[in-house]
Amino acid sequence: MDYFPIFLDLKQKTCLVVGGGEVALRKASILAQSGAKVKVVSPTLSEGFDRLEVEHVAERFSAQHLDGMTLAIAATDDREVNVEVSRLARERNIPVNVVDNPDLCSFVMPSILDRSPLMVAFSTGGASPVLARLLRARFESLIPEGYGRLASFAARFREKVKQKISSPSERRIFWEDVFEGKIAEKVLLGDEKRAEAMLEEGLQEGAIHQGEVYLVGAGPGDPDLLTFRALRLMHKADVVLYDNLVSKPILEMTRRDATRIYVGKKKSDHAMPQEEINEFLVRLAKEGKRVLRLKGGDPFIFGRGGEEIETLSARGVTFQVVPGITAAAGVASYAGIPLTHRDHAQSCVFVTGHLKDGSMDLDWEMLARPRQTVVVYMGLTGLEVLCSKLIEHGLPESTPAAVVQQGTTRNQKVLTGTLANLYRIAMDAKLTPPTLIIVGGVVSLREKLAWFEPN
Ligand code: SAH
Repeated sequence: MDYFPIFLDLKQKTCLVVGGGEVALRKASILAQSGAKVKVVSPTLSEGFDRLEVEHVAERFSAQHLDGMTLAIAATDDREVNVEVSRLARERNIPVNVVDNPDLCSFVMPSILDRSPLMVAFSTGGASPVLARLLRARFESLIPEGYGRLASFAARFREKVKQKISSPSERRIFWEDVFEGKIAEKVLLGDEKRAEAMLEEGLQEGAIHQGEVYLVGAGPGDPDLLTFRALRLMHKADVVLYDNLVSKPILEMTRRDATRIYVGKKKSDHAMPQEEINEFLVRLAKEGKRVLRLKGGDPFIFGRGGEEIETLSARGVTFQVVPGITAAAGVASYAGIPLTHRDHAQSCVFVTGHLKDGSMDLDWEMLARPRQTVVVYMGLTGLEVLCSKLIEHGLPESTPAAVVQQGTTRNQKVLTGTLANLYRIAMDAKLTPPTLIIVGGVVSLREKLAWFEPN
C-alpha cells in the first residue's frame, strides 16, 4: 500500500489553500463542503470565490500562514511557491497536498462519490487521476442517490437493533436482510415510514425474510438501454422469470447464480398461461425469494404487467415496477424516425395490431387522422388488413410507412415503403420477430436521419 486511506473529520478545523485560481477554488469548495474553515492565501482570487465562504488573505504565501492549520493544499502555478508550501508544511507535520505533483504531497486526494454519510473514495495514489475519475463514474450508476439515505436510516436503528439482537453474527444476518431486501428498497424509493414499520415488525417477529417482486422493463433489446435501477435489481434477484422478448445479452446480465425460468409468450406457444405466471410470482415471493419479472420494453405497455401486479397486490406481496424503454421509443430512435416532428406529426398513438378472427378491433377513424404517427405493436401478421383499413378510412396510399425487425439490436432491419406497398415489401423480406410498424410522414425523415445500420 502506497497510501493509507482514512476519512478525516474537518468540521471547524482551519485548512489552508494556497492559490486563487480555478483549481484552488475546487479544492476550497470541497474542504468547505466537509465543514472545514478555509483560509485562502493568494494576492488575487478568481471569480467563483465570492460564492464561497472563505477567509481571504491577500498576500503572497509565507511560513506564518501555516500556523494552526490542520492541513494544507497548494494549487498555484508557481512551482517555487508549491515547493515552499510542501517543505514548510512537512517540517511542521501538517499534511500537505500539491495539486498534480505527487512528489510534493504527503497525502493524495481521492476522487469521491458522495452519498453522505456513505462516502466512496477512489485513488490511484497519484498514478492517474483520470482513471480514478472514470472508475468513480462507473460506480455512480451502481450506487444510487438513495444509498446515503439508506446509511442514515441504518444509523438511526443501529442501537436499537444492537439491544434487541445481542449476538453479533445474528445481527449481521439481520442487517444483510435489511439491505438486500424490501426494507432497503422502500428506503430507496423514499418511503421511510413504511420501511421503519417493516423494520420494527422484523425486530419483533424476525419476519423480515419475506420475498418481493420486481417487475422490470428490459427495453427493446440493446442492453445499453437498461436503466440503472433495472441493472441493480437484476444483480439482486434470486429468481428470474423472463419471456422471449428479453434479449439474450440482457438475460446474461442477471445474477450468475440466479435461477432463470422461461415463461414463454411466443404467439402460439404460451409456455405458461398468464394466470399461472401470476400465481407463480406470488408463490416464489412467499417463499422468501427476490423475484425479478423481466419483460421486454416497458412492463405497462402491451405487457400485461398490470395484471401480474394486481394479483401480487391482492395477495399482499411487496413489489415495485421499473419502467423500460418501450419498443416504439427505442426502435424509432435507432431507425432514425422521430415519432413527433413539427412538420409531420403533433401526436403519436401506440396500438396493438393483434388479429382476432382475421380482423383488428381498432378505432380506424382515430388512427387515420392526419399529422399523427401510428405505432403498431404485434402487427406483422395483420399488416395487410392494417394498411388497407387505414387507406379505407382516409389516409393517402402514399403515406410513408416502415416495418422494423428486431430494432436496437445487431439484427435490426428497417424496411420503408408506403401504405400501398409495405405489405408486399415486408412479405418479400421474410422478417424475424419482433417487428414494429410505424406509419406517418415522420417515416420519410429516416432518409436523412438513419444513423444505426448494423452490418
Ligand atoms: N412491453 C413491450 C411490448 C410487448 S408487445 C414494450 O413496451 O415494448 C410485443 C411487441 O413489441 C412485438 O410484437 C413487437 O411489435 C414490439 N417489439 C418489442 N421489441 C421490439 C424490437 N426490438 N423491435 C421491434 N419490435 C419490437
